[in-house]
Amino acid sequence: MRKINSEISGFYKLTIEERQKILNDLFDLNQDERKLLHNFGYFNPNQMDTLIENVVGSYQLPMGIACNFKINNKDYLIPMVIEEPSVVAAASNAAKFARKHGGFHSEKVNSVMISQIQITQLKDINATKEKLLEHKEKILKIANEQDPTLNEIGGGAFDYELREINTGKGKMLILHLLVNVLDAMGANVVNTMAEAVSPYIEELSNGKIYLRILSNLATERIAKSKATFDKDLLGGEEVVEGILNAYEFALEDPFRATTHNKGIMNGIIALTLATGNDARAIEAGAHAYASLSGKYKPLTKFDVDKEGNLIGEIEIPLALGIIGGMTKIHPMARLALKILNVKSAEELSQVAAALGLAQNVGALRALASEGIQRGHMTLHSRNIAKLAGVPEDLIEEVANKLVKDNRIRVDYAKEILNDLLKKK
Ligand code: NAD
Repeated sequence: MRKINSEISGFYKLTIEERQKILNDLFDLNQDERKLLHNFGYFNPNQMDTLIENVVGSYQLPMGIACNFKINNKDYLIPMVIEEPSVVAAASNAAKFARKHGGFHSEKVNSVMISQIQITQLKDINATKEKLLEHKEKILKIANEQDPTLNEIGGGAFDYELREINTGKGKMLILHLLVNVLDAMGANVVNTMAEAVSPYIEELSNGKIYLRILSNLATERIAKSKATFDKDLLGGEEVVEGILNAYEFALEDPFRATTHNKGIMNGIIALTLATGNDARAIEAGAHAYASLSGKYKPLTKFDVDKEGNLIGEIEIPLALGIIGGMTKIHPMARLALKILNVKSAEELSQVAAALGLAQNVGALRALASEGIQRGHMTLHSRNIAKLAGVPEDLIEEVANKLVKDNRIRVDYAKEILNDLLKKK
């Protein structure tokens, strides 16, 4: 094992080439590896260097298109960025099962974000509350002065709520500033507002303010979608029964609910990444919302209609934007948004909710019938063949045999390769 010293003084001040050179020297990179680092794809290296710190390269993932989606009577081709096999296929399949019954119906989504201001060391919480409510107009005015554009086009801070919490450091008053961020994800917008209003709030309250930042638990930005999935296309009554059983399992068991929700996020995060949105924010919000009742629960619900078709519903907070953040900077995200053809952040969330529901149904259908390994492993077999060192021209042949014999393992791939090489 190579021993290195990770304390590299001033790494951040170096140019990308200088940082790459350090890696070259430290890890003795071969020509192919050096080429990989130099390949920024459709990105201009300088543009990348301004996005995060200590940039040394660019990292690509596949983008696929989920088909068959009809949402609120409009057809969509949904770009998905994900490395996991079978996800795009499962979403497209489930969308087909719903399409037969009119597709997905997604509800209105308000683009309202919550920004938290933590007021501590208060002598009289009730008096502070009264004072803060009295001065609401001025506080909202200061907030809105931070983003006149947003305000002009109909968004901005419009109200706040006060929450009292008991903590190990005594009682705290938490102000939830409510901001309509329109087509943005809104983190920067609301963080700026919270920081700007805090000195005035501190003065009014005679307390001490520490944190001023959005909550990723976006309970004012809930997306809901519903669809009927055709019983016969799903595979018949047995499969529907299996899905209902899987749902009941998830309702009662957080171990299962976590995996159930992971399946939903396979779709939602793939669209989040494709459109240049913040996947960490979406994940954090979704899982916190799933446990809001005190028990971690599935984010979807299932039932059957009179004909035995499956009715699915999803409810999830979605802070997604079509403006701001990376959405307009990343060339592929711009293209993904063009393909998606959405006109607002609300419409993007409506699509994402429908996709999450479809993804969940796709996975549950497979689990309730043949199991997910077959679909997964068919694609995965190619990766296993590669891992086993199978040359490019033999991958297809080796992968097919792995699947046919239902032994998708590296050792078996090596065995097949040896046999093939002996024959040639
Ligand atoms: P942003 O800072 O780019 O702000 C969007 C801007 O677009 C606003 O100034 C707004 O006035 C303007 N705008 C123009 N037309 C608009 C319209 N129709 N609707 C809405 N705004 C319009 O982006 P943002 O959305 O405030 O911040 C998102 C970024 O913040 C993401 O990259 C995210 O990763 C990052 N972030 C996240 C967190 C977190 O989630 N905890 C914390 C900090 C930063």
